[in-house]
Amino acid sequence: MDTSDTIGSAEQRALLATPLAQVPGVGDRRARMVEKLGLFTLRDMLYYLPRDYKDFTSIQPVAALEPGERCALLRVSTEPRIAYPRKGFSIVSAQGNDETGGVKLAWYNQPYRKRQIETGKVYLVYGRLAERNGRKAFENPELEAADKLGEGEVNPRGVLPVYPLTAGVGQATVRTVAGACVAFAHGKLAETLPIDMRDECGLMGFSEAVEAIHKPVNWETLHAARRRMGVEEALLFLLAVETLSAERKQTNGLSFATEGLLSRYVSRLPFPPTDAQMKVLREIEADMASDAPMNRLVQGDVGAGKTVLAFFALYVAAHNGYQGAIMAPTEILAKQHLETARKLFGTEFAIEPLVGGLTPKARREAYERLADGRTQIAIGTHALIQENVSFQNLGVVVADEQHRFGVRQRAALSRNGNPDVLIMSATPIPRTLTLILYGDLDVSILDGLPPGRKPVLTREVTPHKRADMYRFIAKEAQKGRQTYVVCPLVDDSDAVDAKSAETIYRELSEGPLSGVAVSLLHGRMSAEQKEAVLDAFRTGDTAVLVSTTVIEVGVDVPNARYMVIENADRFGLAQLHQLRGRVGRGKEQSWCFLLNGSGSQTAAERLQTLVQNTDGFAIAQKDLEQRGPGEFLGTRQSGAGAFKMLRIVQDMDSLELARTIAKRIAQGDCDATIGAQLIQQARTAYVNKWRSIALN
Ligand code: ADP
Ligand code: MG
Repeated sequence: MDTSDTIGSAEQRALLATPLAQVPGVGDRRARMVEKLGLFTLRDMLYYLPRDYKDFTSIQPVAALEPGERCALLRVSTEPRIAYPRKGFSIVSAQGNDETGGVKLAWYNQPYRKRQIETGKVYLVYGRLAERNGRKAFENPELEAADKLGEGEVNPRGVLPVYPLTAGVGQATVRTVAGACVAFAHGKLAETLPIDMRDECGLMGFSEAVEAIHKPVNWETLHAARRRMGVEEALLFLLAVETLSAERKQTNGLSFATEGLLSRYVSRLPFPPTDAQMKVLREIEADMASDAPMNRLVQGDVGAGKTVLAFFALYVAAHNGYQGAIMAPTEILAKQHLETARKLFGTEFAIEPLVGGLTPKARREAYERLADGRTQIAIGTHALIQENVSFQNLGVVVADEQHRFGVRQRAALSRNGNPDVLIMSATPIPRTLTLILYGDLDVSILDGLPPGRKPVLTREVTPHKRADMYRFIAKEAQKGRQTYVVCPLVDDSDAVDAKSAETIYRELSEGPLSGVAVSLLHGRMSAEQKEAVLDAFRTGDTAVLVSTTVIEVGVDVPNARYMVIENADRFGLAQLHQLRGRVGRGKEQSWCFLLNGSGSQTAAERLQTLVQNTDGFAIAQKDLEQRGPGEFLGTRQSGAGAFKMLRIVQDMDSLELARTIAKRIAQGDCDATIGAQLIQQARTAYVNKWRSIALN
């Protein structure tokens, strides 16, 4: 998200809008060149962030150079030569010297270097120094002509920014333009944060930070600058979240009559709720009774028993003459919720399944029943909010297994009035991400598991043990013990996944599992087919279910005791934990076998995290650290992708800091002008965009 167009006061915006050609030292030619990078104004350049930095802080004499990443100031003392040892392979080589000695420079398959390098000229040479047969050589090093470094636009002995480039624009050009912009803006940029808060938090000033990003003197200033810009970036986002949340709290929500409903509901359940479930049920009851809108996230590990919480919210709404909707991420899970609803409520309420397999006509009619209020409880997938579905009087929305149901998705709900919102997530979300995705929510933690559960025992299985393992599964099947076999994601295509599942299905049913009732489930099957397959597995008619990750979330077959995950090394840890949650739902000891398809040691170490941990939070945190927020959430659309400066995982404390500042600003506890400016920026940058998604 580009927030730069809203930074600061009116004068500041005017200054930042200065065309690059008018910035002294840039010139028309360079200005035209950097246009190719989308850089037109002072603001564009100041916010064009280096993708990397090179450490030119420690230039070493040749005599002292050791193998590794090194930097030296060398005069090229020989004519560069090019050799072609093989067809399609070239080496450009030259000799570089300083007073203490000489070192070879070599570039592989970079023939243009021969033309680029001028004999006799002094260069900063930066790169990997290798040592072969006692001879030192820089291999594929980067070069900076030393005379170009002294023009004042970059620090010749500092940390050098490396900008993203495109064809026809050189690094030196961008550095020159950046340097000119920094010099031009020097002393003119006003602070964008409330100064007392900035100082209290020990953050670098705005203009100093902008300068340090482009012209870092050393690593310390660079880190301080990145931190400050990161905090500011997160601040705008969190301020937007705060603003939305404050507005929502002011608007009147629905106040439901809850008298006696909880005990009546509990008496219908097939089991007594655990203490943890009771605690959350009471929180939901209180939220729904209050006239402030409910905005609650329930986090509970897989199998913790979240479903009954969701249905309580629907029950309260329906009893009050309001409609309730529950959205599941997959058709399969929606179908399962439908079953649960029918068991729990019988015919007491008008339940509308909005799942696949509906003809267009049936779907239209279903939508009509939602719109005119005949439907009391709607059960479906995400389509419930994505399409233009309208409700007559929507009282509560439950998003089940929706750790991606972030602030933007919730903004989309405003179309249907101001319903209570309950989000349930089994992906334990590390705190940093909770702040970003759910900073405005009340959080309930459903800890512990229903009684009588034994933790799933998990083992890594190496490729040569695979056959043994399937022999064991076959034997267990004879005893009526059921197994899921999960096939890996091959790529982002349902079709390809289905194929890989089909292959494994055939291999197993013709090989180690011949004679066992094996069935196949994947996303390309019709809704009816999927349902039939799952039903047969539920009733125990099939013993082994070979499936893609369509069973990842929510599927509840307490009888299943074993889970085999093929090529488990291809999954993220949090996802493996989710998958594993499909077993261990009954009273018997369950097992999860993780096949390490690659057999690699790194994969084995990663899988050990699951062997040793059953705590979803610990696993999620490891996963987030290993894969980063984009992969972890499985979507670049998530709030986490909005940041350029802030690194979600590493900069946890910056995020916390931004949160504190955001709260204080939202409460008016700061310089009024700057506070108003920041809120305005947050609106322009985020709130309006989230709203426009909501209106689409
Ligand atoms: P999740 O939190 O993963 O959505 P579910 O709601 O699917 O978990 O519950 C997992 C299983 O535990 C289901 O079979 C459910 O019926 C059962 N269950 C839930 N709560 C209890 C309880 N208090 N006592 C016994 N079994 C329970
Ligand atoms: Mg669930």
